[in-house]
Amino acid sequence: MGLLIVFLDGVGLGADDPVTNPLAAAPMPVLRGLLGGAGLTRAALDRPAYIPPTTLVALDATLGVAGLPQSGTGQATLWSGINVAARIGRHSGPYAPPQAREILLSNNLFQAAAHHPRAAAFANAYPPRYLDRLERGTARQSVTALAAYLGGATLRGPDELRQGEAVSAFVTNELWATRLGVVGMPEVTAFEAGENLARLARRHAVTVFEFFATDMAGHRRDSELTTTSLERIDGLLGGVVATLDPRRDLLLVTSDHGNLEDATSSEHTLNPAPGLVWGAGAFDMAARLASLVDVTPAALDWLAGAR
Ligand SMILES: [Zn+2]
Repeated sequence: MGLLIVFLDGVGLGADDPVTNPLAAAPMPVLRGLLGGAGLTRAALDRPAYIPPTTLVALDATLGVAGLPQSGTGQATLWSGINVAARIGRHSGPYAPPQAREILLSNNLFQAAAHHPRAAAFANAYPPRYLDRLERGTARQSVTALAAYLGGATLRGPDELRQGEAVSAFVTNELWATRLGVVGMPEVTAFEAGENLARLARRHAVTVFEFFATDMAGHRRDSELTTTSLERIDGLLGGVVATLDPRRDLLLVTSDHGNLEDATSSEHTLNPAPGLVWGAGAFDMAARLASLVDVTPAALDWLAGAR
């Protein structure tokens, strides 16, 4: 049994308006199937007709701090269980403020789960030159990758991706050939990448996959990248729910702050992050999630119960 967290950067719960919210307009058949036909918007919170065992809650991303939420403090809060924005008195990002690094050295979901017999996995595959820079301490990394690294999780590369033991940041693998020049990388569909991700999750206590193109698409107001990103996520989730066992495993889909769900702006938003929970103990988990700060403690409690 495993807990899989699919982390989508910059996806808030916005209005159920297909004109301004791409998540209200996108087909996303897998997500809508889980949510009783609704898109991943605020309207889905009010629907009683979820397909069991799915539920959706809203997680406060403002953290009680003025200004627009940012990835540095938001992700550090998600993976530490400490309100890092309140601790440093502001939202900060996209990379980690120095205090976040300090906090993640001793408060860290990956590190805490490392004591579990099946440990934690960070599923993203990184190119070799990024892993080299990481070793030298010169990589600009998301706080999610930093939390995994500081928490002792293996940073995966092309070998793991080739073997289906990792997932590409953009879900399918074609950018490895076209952008990174890595030869011989097998092609996978988004569904197959989801199956690979779920198999990894079933072998680990906690598995995290980070998808950041959603935030990029929101900043650029790039409708093509938005459409492709939402298709990839939905395909990935299709493979995930087909492969996880909802009587034993748990899926949480969440974010650090809003952005993509408001196409009228290229900025982050004040909208809550989604807490879509599916599988074993979904309702107990959802009942604990009111803010980003609740994710790590709720995850560790779920693991303690699942042991
Ligand atoms: Zn952003």
